[in-house]
Amino acid sequence: MSDSKSELYEPAIETLSREEIQSLQLKRLKWQLKRCYENSAFYQEKFDKAGVKPDDVRSISDIKKFPAVTKQELREEQEKYPPYGRYTVSPPGDWREIHPTTGTTGAQVYNIWAEQDVKNITLWTARTLWNFGVRPGDIIQNAFSYGLWVAGMSSHYAARELGCLVIPTGATPADRQIDYLTSNHATVILATPSFALYLGERLAEKGVSPRSLALRVGCFGGEPGASVASTRKKIESGLGIEAFDYYGLAEIGPTCASECPQKTGIHWVEDHVLVELVNPHTMEWCKPDEAGVLVMTHLTKEATPMIRYWTNDVAKLDLEKCACGRTHARSSGGILGRADDMVVYRGAKFYPTQVEKVLRGFKELSDEYRIELSTDEKRSTTICTIVAECLGGDIDQDQLKERVRASLREELQVAPAIRFLEFGTLERTTFKAKRIEDRRKNN
Ligand SMILES: [Zn+2]
Repeated sequence: MSDSKSELYEPAIETLSREEIQSLQLKRLKWQLKRCYENSAFYQEKFDKAGVKPDDVRSISDIKKFPAVTKQELREEQEKYPPYGRYTVSPPGDWREIHPTTGTTGAQVYNIWAEQDVKNITLWTARTLWNFGVRPGDIIQNAFSYGLWVAGMSSHYAARELGCLVIPTGATPADRQIDYLTSNHATVILATPSFALYLGERLAEKGVSPRSLALRVGCFGGEPGASVASTRKKIESGLGIEAFDYYGLAEIGPTCASECPQKTGIHWVEDHVLVELVNPHTMEWCKPDEAGVLVMTHLTKEATPMIRYWTNDVAKLDLEKCACGRTHARSSGGILGRADDMVVYRGAKFYPTQVEKVLRGFKELSDEYRIELSTDEKRSTTICTIVAECLGGDIDQDQLKERVRASLREELQVAPAIRFLEFGTLERTTFKAKRIEDRRKNN
């Protein structure tokens, strides 16, 4: 652990050479595979079916021989062997917390944290907050949901670990959040990017200048956004802060990748998680600069370890040392999207974050938007419409539509239809925003 003057929280771990990282990962991977094979009927069956044994691993790339685990598989396993399935590896006496997935894409899946898991997750989340510039004495308003979401509890523990004061506002509505921000002089806010944008909107409507707040740093996750330059700029000016992006997921853990002050991508916690980037068509590792699906293996997780968990999230991976001094791999541009959120339209492929990048560059539009997919019944083809909100005032909407369409064409290589709504029509959320509305027939 670091003193408050040091730039890195765990410098010895964060600056290991690539060879040292791989050697640490290999040691931990062997340990993890062995205990999974010996203690979990789920993994034993999977490994046997694939004809692989933990002893087959001699280098990191041997992980490719092992079968991937999907969320659907975990759901079926827990349904068949309730309540937790047969992939719990440590004894129940060690378990401390149960974290279900949010259930936004089907039945929820339980994940368990053992005593040592809570300690590791607290440490790596503290590392994340430290990277963002959070220091002892900061007052942290934690607007992450505590009940549904792994980020709520872990960032709370991490804030305490760092010696900060926490205001656990959780899913409190925006206006109350603003009251807490102002009366407690919070210096750090934790929230989803869409909620941060909404808070900025409400501040402006109330005539509160962001400069009157004590806020300095914002930690944003739960959905892509803070890595999108135009979104980051809007959050920063709306709340008067410096915004940072992180990524996490319930099955693996919170904040397992986060930005450093260079903001050249999110650094992975490579001492705890082995990250692979896989081309979903060939199932081979991606080439440098190729985007692929993140597949993650727990190196230290004790209770419910994941071996090659197929996240369905798309990113790039850069192994070059960062200018910040950290050597852990980075994903530039953060998470690019969900593999199943990819919109295929007139031969072009794009993700909601690309639409967001364009829309948030227009000051005439609000921060909310939807991508609507419907069926052109005459031609039996898909119609893609971008629905956005105009802020009102003296705007020539037809002319604005043309400008937005031209920018979208440049970014997406295809020009969707555009529909404007009045400001405030689209639903705001404190939780993960749903951007795609699929109204196609036979879907
Ligand atoms: Zn860096």
